[in-house]
Amino acid sequence: MPAGLPETARFRAFGPRHLDEIARRHGLPDDLRETVRRVSLVLPFRVNEYVLGELIDWDRVPEDPMFQLTFPQRGMLAPADENQLAKLSADPADKPLLRGAVQEIRRRLNPHPSGQQQLNVPTQDGGRLPGLQHKYRETVLYFPGQGQTCHAYCTYCFRWAQFIGDADLKFAAPDPGGLIRYLADHSEVHDVLVTGGDPMVMSTERLRGHLEPLLGVETVRTIRIGTKSVAYWPQRFVTDPDADDVLRLFERVIASGRQLAVMAHFSHPRELATGLARQALARIRATGAVVYCQAPLIAHVNDDARVWSELWRAELAAGAVPYYLFVERDTGPYDYFKVPLARAVEIFTDAYRTLPGLARTVRGPVMSATPGKVVVDGVEETPDGAYFRLRMLQARNPDLVGRPFRARYSADAAWLDDLVPDPATPADLAAALRGGAPTAPGPAGPGAARRTGRAERNPA
Ligand code: SF4
Repeated sequence: MPAGLPETARFRAFGPRHLDEIARRHGLPDDLRETVRRVSLVLPFRVNEYVLGELIDWDRVPEDPMFQLTFPQRGMLAPADENQLAKLSADPADKPLLRGAVQEIRRRLNPHPSGQQQLNVPTQDGGRLPGLQHKYRETVLYFPGQGQTCHAYCTYCFRWAQFIGDADLKFAAPDPGGLIRYLADHSEVHDVLVTGGDPMVMSTERLRGHLEPLLGVETVRTIRIGTKSVAYWPQRFVTDPDADDVLRLFERVIASGRQLAVMAHFSHPRELATGLARQALARIRATGAVVYCQAPLIAHVNDDARVWSELWRAELAAGAVPYYLFVERDTGPYDYFKVPLARAVEIFTDAYRTLPGLARTVRGPVMSATPGKVVVDGVEETPDGAYFRLRMLQARNPDLVGRPFRARYSADAAWLDDLVPDPATPADLAAALRGGAPTAPGPAGPGAARRTGRAERNPA
């Protein structure tokens, strides 16, 4: 445990108004503190005692990857924007101007990538169902209203706009009623992903209220919980007052005959280096739940094959399953974090080569884009030039699952939109990539044409 944090510590969040306290306690230099203050006017900032005391190496700040992961940084905003914020925040009389400037900067950071509010939201009886997404035939995403925050915020989060009070971006179901009614009409859905924010910010009683109704739906065979709590607040499964209760709840789900998959988000091996995190994983696994691990590849945080090799080995050693390496999405401080696809393939391949066979469950680099999940399998040289080899790992249209295709190599391309598919791509696949084909089950349709390759809300 961090010095001064007792074993039974209750969760406490720190935000921009605690910056002086954080700086005093951890020796954050004045210029860095002011940068964080300015950038967090635009982008969300939230940490907790465990992140501050256990995960960040304060001797390596600002380069430290955990500091980069959780604290807004210089370079995330354009220098002109940062200067404007500094000027306007110096004089209280400029407060209205400051508010306007913040809104304008946020608007330019693409807070609504790919029309997230429109895509994949299912309807029933003529009405949209809030807090649900149905993109792939067999899986529904469920966003419980009380789980739409996190124990700390990742600076690269593609849901950043949700955390700065953008009501348009909030996906939240008030209760599971709509989900249960929808599932009754959709027996093809076998898998429900409970996601957020982070559903594990909820008390066990609240979580129970969302999970137990699912156990009455015979056609649901797998429940997944998307969470970064093992990394950011492992106490949730070890020392929190209801830590044991949540494990009993997991056991109840499994005793009902369902698979329970904890989709854990680990960005860096340091998150698995603490005794508490390993204890949390051991306790989760002892319930019978299976832990799958995923994270995006992010410049300044984990853009190094050695980091991924160490991370995947640590996951395997903890009995978890390395699952996905994602490509960062086009929103927020994207230019600061993005890694070109060509470099992403190199990093993935170099790390993958070092792994024992049992850790080669991991797949990547994967773009979770509008037509589906697209993996970059590699680069091939041909007499006609170089191509990326790509494959639909998952698809809105089930006929496309597993289908390979090629796109012209580009050293700078960082997302599907940046690629030019081979003209020989089969028509149905090419149409899905362009967004013109009718696609099931989500409501993308022809209106999705502009945004096909754009990043979507959830990597599920
Ligand atoms: S990436 Fe996940 S854990 Fe991190 S801020 Fe976003 S929703 Fe929360």
